[in-house]
Formats: sequence, structure tokens, C-alpha cells
Amino acid sequence: MNIRSLVKKTLLMVEPFSVEPIEGYIRLSLNENPTLPPMVVKTAYEKAWEYVNRYTPLEILEEFKDEVSLYNNASSHNIFVGPGADTILTYIADAFLWEGKVASMLRYTYPVYAEETIKRGAKIDFIPMDETFSSKLEDIVEHAKKADVLFLCNPNNPTGNLVIFTREEMEEVLKVSKGIVVVDEAYYEFSGFSVASLVSKYDNLIVVRTFSKGFAMAGLRIGYAITSPEIVDILSRVSQPYVVSTTSMVVATEALRYSRYAYENARRLKDSLYKIKQTLMGMGLKVYPSVTNFLVVEAPPGTWKRLRRNRVLTRLIYADVENRKEVIRISAGDRISVSKFLKVFADIVLEDK
Ligand code: PMP
Repeated sequence: MNIRSLVKKTLLMVEPFSVEPIEGYIRLSLNENPTLPPMVVKTAYEKAWEYVNRYTPLEILEEFKDEVSLYNNASSHNIFVGPGADTILTYIADAFLWEGKVASMLRYTYPVYAEETIKRGAKIDFIPMDETFSSKLEDIVEHAKKADVLFLCNPNNPTGNLVIFTREEMEEVLKVSKGIVVVDEAYYEFSGFSVASLVSKYDNLIVVRTFSKGFAMAGLRIGYAITSPEIVDILSRVSQPYVVSTTSMVVATEALRYSRYAYENARRLKDSLYKIKQTLMGMGLKVYPSVTNFLVVEAPPGTWKRLRRNRVLTRLIYADVENRKEVIRISAGDRISVSKFLKVFADIVLEDK
């Protein structure tokens, strides 16, 4: 049977996902946190065993939401819980995007926004960025006027910079927005800047968060959105019940109680990233400013592939053949990974000279 002829056409317009190996590799491609959460959080992981025979009890969900509310100075009516930020983004697309709808996003941003838009037959409207990966507030404002969904990643992945710097800037966008405004704050624990407090004023704002980055729990697949009770209601219609594992909720609740570790980790990773930046700049390379746990560097052509051949995984943002350069994203890692990366990278750059 020709299965491809049966499938929804827009689904064939996106790539199937792939999963990266870890054994024997230096994995700096996924913006993970290389440090495990503290032992006290592991204790919660063991405690969660007593619930494995049950679907999540309401009390566990409520305890988690209370802790999320406290952490964000919000009300628990403003919290939607999902199995990771990516899945929450797909729920948003399910609710607000279909043929004839328009989603705006930055020219270089987190690819999930474009993929989920394409899959649903909606149109993408890119907001321009200059060669330093900066965007203008006035451009964001103009696009917000026309977008059914505006996706802003703040700080932006893969470029590492903030695109909205103040609450006032965010309000300029929200005041004129035609539709839903999604602010993906996956890297909030690194940047320290959030617009979540505006949720009480603008019912079309959705702030998306994850436990995968600052809290070092990518394997547990848990995230949440801070938004209006109306949107919590909508997203709860898209989601099936019980999709977030009880274990993840119990562990994430404990992690929020000891959230200091996320900020300590963030500081350490940013220090490590600063050292990487200094070394790369010392090699004469252009490195872009970042407020996250990853950075972007301009490298000689072929670098990404050669790093991979040497079992060092990074992310290729784009190859600029004309100007003989590649733009690569590197995540902060532990000391051993970073020194191995820098050694392999230096060999490649030296050979190119
Ligand atoms: N948003 C951004 C900007 C991200 O970088 C990531 C992870 N790469 C996600 C969302 C997905 O987070 P999660 O692991 O919670 O699905």
C-alpha cells in the first residue's frame, strides 16, 4: 500500500525526529544541563514509587501547581501542566492554528514553532533579524498586529539573546496583538527575566516553561504554562488527562522547593560558557552574546561535520557557503566535555588557517 498517499500532506513537509546518542560522545547539541539534581530531589524520585500503580491523584497535581504558583508568584488557576514545553507548544498549535491562520516567529528561532505551524496547514510569517541576530521591537509589534499566534522565544534559541528586554516592551506587543502571544521562557533560570506577571493583565499571553534546562530534568519530560484561566481551560480540552507522569510531578515539586540549585547550576554553566567564549574569541572567531547555557560561534566550513566525526555533537544553525562560514550552536557542558570539545575544535580551526 502507498502509505504516503494516505497521509496528511502537510505532515510530509516536516522531517521525522531523530534521537542523539550519548555513550562515547560529547553531547553539546541539546542545551541540556550536565549536572544531576541534588540528592534531596532524588529522595522524592524514590518516594514517587508508591504511586506507580495509580493514575496521578488530584492532590499530587494540586501540590505541584501550588509550588509552581509560589515559584512564579501566580495563582494556581493560571497554571497548565504538560509533558514538557514541546508538547505544550503542540497543544497551543492544536487549539489556535489551522488552514488560513498565520503564525509569526523570528527568522532564526526554535524550529518547533515552524514545524507545528506547517503540520497544521497554517502560514508562517517571519519577523526579520539582522546579521547579529537582533530583531527590532517595532517589527515584532507590526507582526503581532496580524498574527493569530505570535511565538517569541525569550531568550531566543538558537541565538542566545533576549528579544524582549523589559515588561514595557512586552506590553507594547501585547497591546496591539491580534491573537495569542506565546513567550517561550525555556531558559528563564539562566536569563532571570520573565514576563509571566503580565498574565493577570493580558488574557491572550501564554508563558511556556520547562524543567529540562535550569532544573536539569530533561529525561522526566515535564513543563508548564502560565496563562489566563480561559486558556488553561482550552489547553485542558486539547490534552488527554494523566499525560504527565506522577513521578515527574513529585520530583518537580521537590525541585521547586530547592530551586536554589537551578540558579547555582546556571551560574556555573554560564561561567563555563564564558571560558569557552574567551577561548573561541582567542582563536579569532566571532562569538555572539548569550544569556543562556549555550552560545553561537562562526566557524570555518565543514566544522560541524568534523566535530561529529570526532564524536563531538553540536548544532548546525546554517552554513553560509558564499562567505565560507558555518554558524554553530554549542551548549555549556561539564569540564571534561568542554576541554575535549575545545581541543577538537582548535585542531579544526588551526587546520583551516
Ligand atoms: N522551548 C525551547 C526554546 C527549547 O530550547 C526547548 C528544548 N530544546 C523546548 C522548548 C522543549 O522543552 P521540553 O524538554 O520541556 O520539551
